[in-house]
Amino acid sequence: MYLLDVYIEHKTIKLNTRFSYLYDEPILRGTRVKVDFNHQACVAMVVGCKVYDEDVQKEILEKGFTLKNILEVIDPFPILNEELLQLGELIALETLSSVMACYQSMLPKMLKPNSMARLARTETMAHYEKEPLKTNDKQIQILDFIKGKDFNLTELRKTFGSSINTLIKNGCISTYEREISYAPKPFQQVLASYELSNAQTSALDQIKSLSQQVICLYGPTGSGKTELYLKLAEEAMSKGKQALILVPEISLTPLMIKRVQDRFGQDVIVYHSHLNDHERYLQYQRVLSKESLVVVGTRSAVWLPFDQLDVIVLDEEHDHSYKQESTPRYHSRDVAIHRAKTFGCKVLLGSATPSFETYARALRGVYGLVQLPKRISGILPKVTVLPPDYRFNPIFSPKVIVALQQRLDLHQQALILLNRRGYAPIYQCLQCFSSVSCPHCDRLLNVHKESRLLKCHSCDYQTPMIHVCPVCGHDELRMIGIGTQRVEAELNRLFPHAKTLRMDSDSTTTKNAHERLLSAFENHEADFLLGTQMIAKGLDIANVTLSLVLDIDKSLLRTDYRSVEDAFDLMVQAAGRSGRGSLQGEVIFQSGLKDHYAIKLAIDHDYPAFFKKEMNYRKLGQNPPYAYLIYLTLNHKDEKIAQSEAFELFEAFKEKAVDVLGPSDLGKLKDISRFRLILKGKDLDKLRKSVSEICFSRSLKSEFIADVNPMGDL
Ligand code: ADP
Ligand code: ZN
Repeated sequence: MYLLDVYIEHKTIKLNTRFSYLYDEPILRGTRVKVDFNHQACVAMVVGCKVYDEDVQKEILEKGFTLKNILEVIDPFPILNEELLQLGELIALETLSSVMACYQSMLPKMLKPNSMARLARTETMAHYEKEPLKTNDKQIQILDFIKGKDFNLTELRKTFGSSINTLIKNGCISTYEREISYAPKPFQQVLASYELSNAQTSALDQIKSLSQQVICLYGPTGSGKTELYLKLAEEAMSKGKQALILVPEISLTPLMIKRVQDRFGQDVIVYHSHLNDHERYLQYQRVLSKESLVVVGTRSAVWLPFDQLDVIVLDEEHDHSYKQESTPRYHSRDVAIHRAKTFGCKVLLGSATPSFETYARALRGVYGLVQLPKRISGILPKVTVLPPDYRFNPIFSPKVIVALQQRLDLHQQALILLNRRGYAPIYQCLQCFSSVSCPHCDRLLNVHKESRLLKCHSCDYQTPMIHVCPVCGHDELRMIGIGTQRVEAELNRLFPHAKTLRMDSDSTTTKNAHERLLSAFENHEADFLLGTQMIAKGLDIANVTLSLVLDIDKSLLRTDYRSVEDAFDLMVQAAGRSGRGSLQGEVIFQSGLKDHYAIKLAIDHDYPAFFKKEMNYRKLGQNPPYAYLIYLTLNHKDEKIAQSEAFELFEAFKEKAVDVLGPSDLGKLKDISRFRLILKGKDLDKLRKSVSEICFSRSLKSEFIADVNPMGDL
């Protein structure tokens, strides 16, 4: 007999308790098993195994446990290796989340610890056989779909539902098993690698020779950072080792993927959230089999099962999408650094506006600091600040309209950035002045004129546009504020012959929408690309000679300690999109705060000076990177319960002399009341420990969420 230690994914279990089970054969760490827990069959991960000898038996008896046998072994071999098993435990400790949740992040959905699916070597395929005798539209649609080509049965069921089964029963579709394999797409090397500039060569030398494992690569947009990533990946490949290039969420991914694939002339491994379960699984298998040594991916790619990493790159390292905003709330940078330690490889954090945490560490020598001084093309765009003139036009100032018209005349293109989607954020009654709000959240509803809906941007609630005030019955309501849809309408009105593409999360819901919009713009099928911050980063189109940023004033007024930094990043990123080719670029910030230091320093592209100035405010408020923060949020349907438990915890932290702020009422979200405490301190481990001691031992009625080094909104 063998005694197994396992983690179980279960709601009522206290965080990270291990449980013991018996089995008559040894099982390797990292293997999933099925166990009975509280009369419920659960999936568990084996993390320990020893012979169940007399000593162990005695120990167990003394504890008064009665051990059960495991029900079933799920995997024929471990699905997590030793490195990943340990990494999961480490990140769980650091993020105050469960080890199982970390293991979940490491695996594609088809292999999740809570799924019963086995590590398949084969898949079931569906093959067209014949027309049915009696048939309906749905069946015809399915058969037409698979006529020329066989498809994975699970995927087909997802698309077409159970009608498939009828067709299989009638013999119209046959099925067969086949080895799971991925047919790499052919790519030609269309981009030769550049001869590096002197600045790039010297940067590359420094990256390799500096003693620090983590290197901050600071360089303005267009200074040739990506070129260095590609060089490093190339070198890794030539040694037969792996390179991981992480990019911010989705909008940029296609551009980076294209650039990498064009360079290496091969189907590099790509891993991001817009892949379906099967595609993710295939890419995961390709990492295991090292079919390609280069991986480009978003946040979760940092967990892939590498075994010989040579370099990890985080492009645009300051981007918030590297932090996961659901459990486990990890930051890819932290995971990358842990993995780099194991593999003895470098982590390169690239940005034109590094996060304050990173840059501060680089200045202190904790990380290496390498700089690329200027743009490859040598010229930075000209930046102007123009105040809005609402009497003239609610959206564009007169000079902005002239600048836009100029682009049209010159057959050049412009980017227009506004960080708010929808048509207008406020819909207000002219009689009682109440604004229409979400029935489930303490939020106002946004007008979406295109679809004639009012939508909540915090939950999924939407309702048809109303024309009568729900409070007083008055029939005059007006839209206040500006969203991307309204800007689009205004552009169409002012420039009836120009074409505008709008890119925001409403226009990019379908698969590959980003890719399609971006390539249409790149092919000059439109004059203006209008969008939220998703268009601010990474675009490299030579014909774009104007970047226009609308309405950043709210962020500059310091709504929270990080808002000015975010606004600065946005301005610099947007500026970096203009004039990347041989044409002189222009940038316009439309703002009423032209003397604000963030605007002035963004105009000069002077990140170091901005950092210095802004750090004074951080110091004054003792905010990161001068101190660490942990957010603790209590969620409950009953406001009183959430509130009183928040107060209870507050008192408990006070008693232990932990610096705690709050509780603050975050308002309702999806009918759930939320209260938050903020812990602040210089010793992060001590803060974490106090959370484990005070919160994890308590049985709370509210849902409890801990967020270490939070990046989300207040
Ligand atoms: P960043 O990643 O810092 O924004 P990129 O690597 O994208 O900068 O480089 C900016 C532009 O300059 C790109 O169009 C790129 O193809 C070009 N470029 C980069 N390095 C070189 C080089 N050594 N010689 C010529 N062109 C280069
Ligand atoms: Zn809502």
